[in-house]
Amino acid sequence: MANIKIKPWISSLPDYIPGGTIEDIKERYNLKEVHKLSSNENIYGPSPKIIEYFKNGFKDMKYYPDSYCRKLRKKLSEKLGVNEDSIIFGNGTDQIIEMVCDAILCRDSNVIVPNPTFLTYEKSALKNDAEVIKIPLNDFRQDIEAIVKCVNKNTAVIFLTSPHNPTGTIITKEEIEYALKNIRNDILIVLDEAYIEFVPAEYKFDSLKYLKQYDNLLVMRTFSKVYGIAGLRIGYGLGDSEVISDITKLMQPFVVNSVAQIAAMLSLEDDESIGRNVKTIINEKEKLSKRLIQENIQFVKSYSNFILIKTGSKSIKIIEELLKRGFMVRGGEFLGFPEYIRVSISLPEINKMFTELFINLYKEYNS
Ligand code: PMP
Repeated sequence: MANIKIKPWISSLPDYIPGGTIEDIKERYNLKEVHKLSSNENIYGPSPKIIEYFKNGFKDMKYYPDSYCRKLRKKLSEKLGVNEDSIIFGNGTDQIIEMVCDAILCRDSNVIVPNPTFLTYEKSALKNDAEVIKIPLNDFRQDIEAIVKCVNKNTAVIFLTSPHNPTGTIITKEEIEYALKNIRNDILIVLDEAYIEFVPAEYKFDSLKYLKQYDNLLVMRTFSKVYGIAGLRIGYGLGDSEVISDITKLMQPFVVNSVAQIAAMLSLEDDESIGRNVKTIINEKEKLSKRLIQENIQFVKSYSNFILIKTGSKSIKIIEELLKRGFMVRGGEFLGFPEYIRVSISLPEINKMFTELFINLYKEYNS
């Protein structure tokens, strides 16, 4: 045992239990093909424009990246109709969540999160010794009224997610307006929209419109999901320019690498292929949902690119059997739903194989 004195609170942080890699599973079960449906990635992958751009490699590696992401910033500000200085980029939105917490929270403050929710919120708050107040979901949805009710004088940040991970449920326009109107303006409301592009237009509200009215709102989005470049690590936040400028002071200068900046820019230029993928994913999700209904298997209606499906008390066994046959899904015990699995929607032929295999296993272990 080393004698190094690690800060005591670190040992009380929850562990992040990473999902296995495709290579691990191939090796463990001697498989030729493995389908990773466990991390909500976009299996359709990035815009072909990115592949084309990097076809001949990337010669500018010797230079540091542009620490202000100037070209990308300009493009994104034009596309979204927001000022350039109201954008912060990070090494994934994970890093923006961490910076927000580092900038605002301390021992005397608290953060309110729905429970369960995306684990990085809690971890980043605990790192700053802040209290984490967890408000249970109500019928798989974030309970906005209960969240507003439990605000107290020490509340500094509230994390909301739409669509929510791991349930895929959304916050409505009425609910977000209720939160914005009824939460003090010295509390930062973070609206994490990592999966917003998968929400059909009729269920979506324009969150950016509220930024003009509420300087305590921060909207977060990512290039990891719809744009299919999770491996490059780039996400962004949109908020009041003074808040953004202060949070940015915490940032290491070169966290967003050059390849990620170029790939993000090219992604923003390819609405056509990205829109096509979104349509297919929504369609595939509907197909899977219909099959589950036919077989009387419960699931949560999802507005995202993944779906939370009830597996029952033999969940761990079902997950193991899926793995043996080359399908990686996220076990609900890591997500606060022990009797469920979370499954990313994949390509049509893979979804089809998964659906029939899962239904058979479900029947076998729940009969
Ligand atoms: N927010 C939510 C709700 C997520 O599910 C994820 C990734 N799983 C993230 C943020 C982080 O995304 P990234 O760091 O890849 O931008």
